[in-house]
Amino acid sequence: MSKNRRNSPYVKACLFMLCSILCGIVAISLVPMVLADLGLSPDAAGWVEASLGATWVLVGGIGAFAIRCPMCGRSLFKRRWSIHVPWPAERCSKCNYDLTNET
Ligand SMILES: [Zn+2]
Repeated sequence: MSKNRRNSPYVKACLFMLCSILCGIVAISLVPMVLADLGLSPDAAGWVEASLGATWVLVGGIGAFAIRCPMCGRSLFKRRWSIHVPWPAERCSKCNYDLTNET
């Protein structure tokens, strides 16, 4: 019997983290080039980049806390001793629930 794991918290967290990394790369590399091509002054471009960076940190942080274990509610990015890591766990570090199971 095969399990459909596309809706598992682990897969959702992995996709969220990959999208966050991709958005960070775009914000760091492509946005400054586009702003320079548009002829924006360095001060204005700095404000735009800082705003994008702050938004990226907020969305990434809130999203990482929002993806939780369905059994106990612990964030998938939180490990023992309240250490946060950038990649989700396959098993909950609190209740040992298999997070690759579909919810
Ligand atoms: Zn749990």
